[in-house]
Amino acid sequence: FDQLEGYIWMNGEFVRWTDAKVHVLTHGLHYASSVFEGERAYGGEIFKLNEHTERLHESARILGFTIPYSVDELNDACRKLLAKQGFQDAYVRPIAWRGSESMGVSAQANKINVAIAIWQWPSYFDPAQKLKGIRLDMAEYRRPDPKTAPSKSKAAGLYMICTISKHAAEAKGYADALMLDWRGQVAEATGANVFFVKNGVIHTPKPDCFLDGITRRTVIDLAKRRGYEVIERVIMPEEMADFEQCFLTGTAAEVTPVSEIGSYKFTVGEIAINLMNDYAAEVTPKKVAAE
Ligand code: PMP
Repeated sequence: FDQLEGYIWMNGEFVRWTDAKVHVLTHGLHYASSVFEGERAYGGEIFKLNEHTERLHESARILGFTIPYSVDELNDACRKLLAKQGFQDAYVRPIAWRGSESMGVSAQANKINVAIAIWQWPSYFDPAQKLKGIRLDMAEYRRPDPKTAPSKSKAAGLYMICTISKHAAEAKGYADALMLDWRGQVAEATGANVFFVKNGVIHTPKPDCFLDGITRRTVIDLAKRRGYEVIERVIMPEEMADFEQCFLTGTAAEVTPVSEIGSYKFTVGEIAINLMNDYAAEVTPKKVAAE
């Protein structure tokens, strides 16, 4: 990780980047009792900060712990850290985890720790490739049944199958992987939601076992504002043969056109491009005109 300068907010204090450390017996490391967020700042403002911070609180609640800082306190910490780091455009990573006070599956008394790091991460996918559409492999692992894993929590543990799938895809020259869910329905990419276009209509899977992304909801609103029809429904993988366009949405990925998923091909079309541009406009802070 090349950023070694600056500060990380950790348990209420700004500590030097290189001093923000945890013990090897951290419960979050051994048992994945950890939840996180991914946010982006544009022009010095964190887009939908409050929604992200509320999701962080909710993710922790689902895992059975309470974050010892209010939503307002965390929002304030994110804003102060962004200013301290001196970035206009940046990626923001809050994380909360159970500490190292005791070892074992049960960790009732372990301290809940919270940290926030902010660094410059201009593009999640290769920028040149992004405009041509990225290529996705089909993942081997499937999103689990919500009765098998707490799928509404942005929990570190749920990313184990994402990293395995993304690495397997990268080894074959793909940018990412598309995951089906436990029923065999199209779910999402390893760190972004997926949309398809057919005959001018947008189709996207119902988020019943994966994150209903903040970007996903923003893009659905932008699509409706343009008068596009958006259908949230069950999508079977075979249907990809008939879809004309495809794109991913996520805080890091923003709106990224997809040209290929396994044997299925898509064009980088007007709807994907329009929404990519609309999203870029939406995240740009609107300066209130001087009176
Ligand atoms: N799914 C997964 C697995 C993700 O990691 C993300 C990124 N947080 C998303 C979807 C998109 O969520 P959001 O738009 O809120 O960033």
